Amino acid sequence: MNSPLQDPLADRLHALKQRFVERLKVELVSLEAYGQKLEQQDVELESMRNCVQRLHQLAGSAGTFGFPEVGELARELEKRLKTEVEHWPDNAGAGHPGAEACTGLAVQFRALVARMKTESAEPVPDRDQAATTVIDEASLHGQQVRLLVVSDGLSELDDLVKELSRYGFNVLVLGLSDDRFSETNRAALLDNVATAICWHGMVERVARQVSGHHADAWPYLMPLVCIGETGQFEQRYRVASAGARAFFPEPVDVPELVERVETFVEEKTSRVRGRVMIIDDDRELAEHYSLVLAAAGIEPRVVNDPAQLLEALHGFEPDLVLMDIELGHYSGVTLAGMIRFHARWLSLPIIYLSAEDDLESQLQALSGGADEFLVKPISDDYLIRSVQMRCQRARQLSELMNRDSLTRLLKHSIIKQEVERERLRSMRGDYPSCAVLLDIDHFKQVNDTWGHAQGDVVIRALANLLRNRLRESDAIGRYGGEEFLVVLSNCDAPAAEHLVGRILQNFSELEFAVGEQAFQVTFSAGIALINQFAEGDQAIEAADRALYARKRAGRNGVMIYDQSMAGRSLSPADGF
Ligand code: GH3
Ligand code: MG
Ligand code: MG
Repeated sequence: MNSPLQDPLADRLHALKQRFVERLKVELVSLEAYGQKLEQQDVELESMRNCVQRLHQLAGSAGTFGFPEVGELARELEKRLKTEVEHWPDNAGAGHPGAEACTGLAVQFRALVARMKTESAEPVPDRDQAATTVIDEASLHGQQVRLLVVSDGLSELDDLVKELSRYGFNVLVLGLSDDRFSETNRAALLDNVATAICWHGMVERVARQVSGHHADAWPYLMPLVCIGETGQFEQRYRVASAGARAFFPEPVDVPELVERVETFVEEKTSRVRGRVMIIDDDRELAEHYSLVLAAAGIEPRVVNDPAQLLEALHGFEPDLVLMDIELGHYSGVTLAGMIRFHARWLSLPIIYLSAEDDLESQLQALSGGADEFLVKPISDDYLIRSVQMRCQRARQLSELMNRDSLTRLLKHSIIKQEVERERLRSMRGDYPSCAVLLDIDHFKQVNDTWGHAQGDVVIRALANLLRNRLRESDAIGRYGGEEFLVVLSNCDAPAAEHLVGRILQNFSELEFAVGEQAFQVTFSAGIALINQFAEGDQAIEAADRALYARKRAGRNGVMIYDQSMAGRSLSPADGF
């Protein structure tokens, strides 16, 4: 996939590599000096400890910047020198490991320094040759979801297209011979479309058109949903063997279809999302990891100074921490322990990055509260894949904890916290934000007339509609049974009223079919400007007052909170 990010990324990685070469040149002078001292048996414990630390950093970073031999030599030397330092004859710092050991070490130093000289004398190859990983970017995040309906001009998919548009999807209808299916344009189509829908009779032809070079991967790149008449076994079997991901017999259960599309969208976006905090005192290396992860759609945050760690954690809320095991005078193991002091970060995955390949110290580190160990140097590709996998797992777990199972929206307590967080953010940023409380009208009647299961379908339909229309920076939660709380960031009250009014319009047009019959539902909404209040909860209460004022004034509408609603009772026995 070609992304506009790729070239600047390669440039920046190339510049980093050049910086690293400059560092090698400086470093080799000090290492040479250490080697000479060893040769003359003029060594002190403290200076050898420093030397071990330098070697450790070098071992961890050289491979990433394209100097694996330097990395290996440094690592061997680090291990040997470390053993000597640990068994130093005199703890007071006098004496040395012995003539033989010193000479042996000096030979190794010479080999390392020679290698560093050769490598750093070579010009850094052009950025095209500087290996970067093929970057996978989230193309869907923050956009209206686009669906492709492939039409043969014969089947009646018009109603379906209309219905899907009401749910907030951007529906593109194309004939099979359309130019956008051509070899050259196909990649863009695969990038921009969340799901393709077609009549079952066309499934093989559609599969051929969209698959192109991605024969194995296309069902995941562009999930295909087929619509059929009866859904008999043979028909479904054919559709499945062509690679379709779902089959919906007619009449299509649209809310169910919408929900399936949502899971495809999540699948496509969650693969590349996540927030990772990188804690490494090696600036170039940390920046390299950060660039590589950012280009793969993961949001990185680098912390070079361990003292800033906890504060940075609170501000950033990562899905994952990548932590160097030795950060100057600090130990990554101890820092992991400090992170675990806080109940909030008990389940935060921590992965150590280290040049340490000794199994015993890895085990020690893991028992100190981290989850895993990646041994430096790590290839870009391996880094991306390990991080993506773990972010996804972490997100799945937090989804389970934070999301409501019926709607997959945020749970009551979480969305309440969101209001307060948005209040603080919007005060800092000095922009308006709104809290909106929505409640389905006469929902008890829906349940009584059409059954509880059908009531659930209505709740899910509204959840999906909200998710679709408010995708970007807004938070959406299920506040109660048929009540939803939405946080509209950077949006003033009239704009919120307009937006929610349009969503209400769409919602009220949805038809819920039960056998031959169909019914429609509306909701009422109350809006409060969050910034007006000293606490998030007060804003929610104000939105609630506006909602009930709207219910009193006749449902199926939106109302903005004003001071006149402040004192009124919210009791349902209020005569409405
Ligand atoms: P109003 O227009 O004043 O909001 O009337 P209403 O009937 O919607 O309000 P009321 O609060 O009296 O009823 C809400 C109903 O929602 C009662 C409850 O059984 C139902 N409900 C709550 N949670 C769920 C759910 O998860 N699924 C279904 N199907 N019904 C639910
Ligand atoms: Mg209610
Ligand atoms: Mg209600």
